[in-house]
Amino acid sequence: MTGRLKDKVAFVTGIGSSDAGWGTGKAIAHLFAREGARVFGLDLDEAAAAATRDLIRDAGGSCEIFRGDVAAAGDVERAMAACLEAFGTVHVLVNNIGIGASGGVVELDEATWDKVFAVNLKGVFHTCKAAIPVMERGGGGSIVNISSITGQRWVGAPMISYAASKAAMIQMSRHMAIQHARRGVRSNTILPGFLDTPMVAAAMRRRFGDDIAEPMRRRDLACPGGKMGDAHDVAFAAIYLASDESKFVN
Ligand code: NAD
Repeated sequence: MTGRLKDKVAFVTGIGSSDAGWGTGKAIAHLFAREGARVFGLDLDEAAAAATRDLIRDAGGSCEIFRGDVAAAGDVERAMAACLEAFGTVHVLVNNIGIGASGGVVELDEATWDKVFAVNLKGVFHTCKAAIPVMERGGGGSIVNISSITGQRWVGAPMISYAASKAAMIQMSRHMAIQHARRGVRSNTILPGFLDTPMVAAAMRRRFGDDIAEPMRRRDLACPGGKMGDAHDVAFAAIYLASDESKFVN
């Protein structure tokens, strides 16, 4: 441990993982705690969040969790209040929660469109609304948004609500970055490509059946380096953006 986030409090959404293994929120929370942050995690899946919390605590780190829906303003307000109660402030907000849905405008039903936008975009509105005033009162902070390359380009299959919500997240981040810069709050966005995570493995199994070795191999080969990224790759980018090392990156 080199203490890259020593004395920081990080509020991370989606610190569970949708299955065994490492989702990005879990990897981010674990790395941040290893580097000295006190981590507060919001997740709808209490057992998954507790698994991350226990992993962190077993390694000597500090983590509290809150079960709630990021799309519900009241849940986010209560989570932020619990974070302030536990740790006194917030320096870092990681907006990591994201859900997908396949289909283009013709196939997708309106309820799914609304749900994806409520979680992927309105959730960010709720967390930023809660965190920014706290960060500004404390002299600044860093918001790290986990978007997706799907927010910038076609990735081979229709997922219109996911793509549009992730694109909106990118611009929302830019907008907040400029508005709050003078008060010391930075906002940056990471756009991962397809990762080797439990969520992706589950999606692959739904599409290809239990044996996903071949589609995973094809996915690896589609990457210039011959291997797709994983949750830890995102965590290493996130810790740079969360820490003061990136104080001029906004
Ligand atoms: P994951 O599904 O493994 O983990 C997400 C966590 O968020 C879960 O613990 C889940 O319980 C929680 N969650 C979901 N909806 C919630 C809600 N409404 N309120 C509170 N908690 C909720 O996901 P992951 O694969 O680690 O992906 C995390 C982020 O990374 C997402 O924003 C995703 O869009 C983005 N991303 C992932 C990939 C990839 O290939 N896995 C690629 C690009 C971007």
